[in-house]
Parts: sequence; C-alpha cells; structure tokens
Amino acid sequence: MDVVVVGGGPAGRALARACAARNLDTTLVDPNPERPWRATYAAWVDELPADAPVAVSTSRARAVTTAEHVIARGYAVLDNEWLRRLPGDVRVVAGRVVAHTGGTATLADGRVLTGRVVDATGTAGGRAAQTAVGVVVPAGSARPFVGADEALIMDWRKPPAATTADPTFLYAIPVSADEVLLEETSLARRPGLPLRELRLRLHARLARHGIPVPRDEERVRITLDGRARDGAFGAAAGWVHPATGYSVAAALRRAPVVADAIAEGRKVTRSAAERTVRTLRLRGMEALLALPPDDVPEFFNSFFKLSGSLQRDYLGGHDDLRGTARAMLRLFDSVSWGMRARLVFPVQSAKSAGTPG
Ligand SMILES: Cc1cc2nc3c(=O)[nH]c(=O)nc-3n(C[C@H](O)[C@H](O)[C@H](O)COP(=O)(O)OP(=O)(O)OC[C@H]3O[C@@H](n4cnc5c(N)ncnc54)[C@H](O)[C@@H]3O)c2cc1C
Repeated sequence: MDVVVVGGGPAGRALARACAARNLDTTLVDPNPERPWRATYAAWVDELPADAPVAVSTSRARAVTTAEHVIARGYAVLDNEWLRRLPGDVRVVAGRVVAHTGGTATLADGRVLTGRVVDATGTAGGRAAQTAVGVVVPAGSARPFVGADEALIMDWRKPPAATTADPTFLYAIPVSADEVLLEETSLARRPGLPLRELRLRLHARLARHGIPVPRDEERVRITLDGRARDGAFGAAAGWVHPATGYSVAAALRRAPVVADAIAEGRKVTRSAAERTVRTLRLRGMEALLALPPDDVPEFFNSFFKLSGSLQRDYLGGHDDLRGTARAMLRLFDSVSWGMRARLVFPVQSAKSAGTPG
C-alpha cells in the first residue's frame, strides 16, 4: 500500500512517520518542505502521547481571570526539530497538489502521485481567528509575569495601552532553560484582531517593567472555524479547538490510529461524535464572541473553577461527546444568571470574544 500525505506541517509529518513505521510506502508532499518553522507549539502534557517530543515542560500552570487559579497540570513546549523529522524511507516531494482523488494526487507541475491520499494541508475557509504577537525574553526579565516552573496560560489583566475594547490576555511560557515567550493573545475574533493592536499592547506591558523589545517576534494567526474535511488529518480535519487554537496534540495522538486504519485498508471518516463535538465547540465559540468584553475574564473564572477533569474534558478529545457536553453544561450552570442570559440571548452579534458590535 502506498500512502501520499499532502501537507508537511506537524500533522502531516506525524502521520507520515506513523505510516512509515508500519512499512507503508510513504510520500509526503509540501510546496516548501525545508522551510523552517517559526511557531512555538505547546500542549498540556497529559494530552500528549508518551513519545511526544517535549523540549521544555513545567509542572503547573496558572491563569489570572477575575481571580488567580493554579492548575496542577504539566504544560509542554514541543521540540520542532523532532516534529519535523522524517525517517529516511519517507519520500519527500516538493510541490503543490492541485487536485486529488482517493488514489491520486496531481501536482501543479503535472506530476501525478499514486497511493492512498490523505489531506493534511491545514485549515481552509473560516473567518474567526485567534491572533497573537509574541517575543522571547530572558527568563529573569519575565519574572513580573511568570514564575519559574510554571506556564501562564492566560492573564486577563488589562495591558497599560489599548486602542480598542477587544479583550486580550498575556500568555507566558518558558521556551528554554533561560528564555520565556511572552505573547499578547486575542482568543477569538471575526475577523482576527490585527497584529498591530496586539503588538502595541505587548510592548506597553514590556515597557511598564522596563523590558527592552526584542527585534524578532512570533506572529500567530489560527483560523478557528475552518471547514472540516472528511478523511483529512490535523487542522484540515477540523481538529483545531475553537477555544484554544490547539490541534497538534490531537494529531500526534491520532497518527498511529489513522496509520493502522490505512495499513488495514479501512476508510477513515469523521464519526458522528466527532462532528457533534465540533458543532458544540463552535457554538461555544459563538457564545464567547457575543459576550461583552468585561464579561470574558469572569467567564474564564467560571471555567477554571470547574474540576480538573471537566476542564480536561472540554479542552481534550475532539470526539469525546459525553465529556464535552458534560463540561459545557456544568460551565453554563456555574456562570451567573446575567451571563447565562447573555450567552443564550446575545444582545448583538459580536465580532470579537467580547467586542460588542
Ligand atoms: C504561530 C502559531 C503557533 C501555534 N501554536 C500552537 C500551539 O502551541 N499548540 C497547538 O496545538 N497548536 C498551535 N497552533 C495551531 C495549529 O496547531 C497549527 O496551525 C498547526 O501547524 C496545524 O498543523 P497541520 O499540520 O494540521 O497544518 P499546517 O501546519 O497548516 O500544515 C499544512 C501544510 O500543508 C501544506 N500545504 C497546503 N496546501 C498544500 C497543497 N495544496 N499541496 C501540498 N501541501 C500543501 C502547507 O504548506 C503546510 O506546510 C499554532 C499556529 C501558529 C500559526
């Protein structure tokens, strides 16, 4: 059996590695397979498979909403070199696939590759996005924001400068033994909050503590409501969680399962549970988009007051219908009556997580 994985992002490469490990004759196609990755990929440690390539990890996380929450859960930054690595027996083809059927992939230059084709080309469509601007600073300078051995998942305290009412938070995680990534993040907005606003807010936070602004920055744009394609893999399959923008841990977990199915000649389709979980998660995102800006920290305060297992249920498995529904119901139950009303009957349809109008 030959396999053609279209797309050489973290998901496509995880699947190609898993297919090759099952002795499948594997080809990976990407327009620019050698282009270095600039993204910092992170995940909760307990969502990663045991062999996941962790570069740095912390034993706990913290969230600042209307109160402070310590989360007894490990958080990890993944090793991009490992995520990119492919075994020698995976054939890498530089090219853009312009059409594919289940058994052939046609490249822009006319070449045709045959084999079981899996679409791992990332998100398509969608307008709601998470955007962020980040910089890496020495760990010592980052201490006003994040302590040693912890990840600051979100800090909703307002930045010293802003030109719009859109709610944003600070995310701060160690990326090496002596460096920390500080990222100003807009969780969800339709369309995504412009990077210049995020940059202004981040720089204002740095200036308040006398931290010089590094020249390099990480720019994040993750489409949250892209089209989920049947039989696809990774972000292309709709695995980006609309509440976090995350999909890499899901791809790493699912790669061996999908590779087994391919090796056994089974079809890979989206289950009813997977479709429903995605619908519920997208509804959750729409409700969040409609909240007034000042309600957003309170909403997350209710979220982080849920038990650890409910939090995991909501953030985790993309096909865990029971867990997702249970967590969403408990969250709804735990917010104030006023917020419940605003979640159910948004006064106006909003474009940002918290921006009216
Ligand atoms: C800066 C940044 C930081 C992020 N941080 C995190 C994080 O911490 N944790 C997390 O889980 N997620 C994170 N994400 C979100 C998401 O998980 C990533 O976008 C991830 O890269 C998705 O992986 P993927 O392989 O499914 O798709 P992609 O990474 O988008 O890869 C798709 C690949 O397919 C190729 N391709 C597209 N079209 C074609 C075609 N026609 N023919 C051939 N190849 C094609 C593309 O060139 C690309 O290389 C982040 C995203 C960004 C941008």
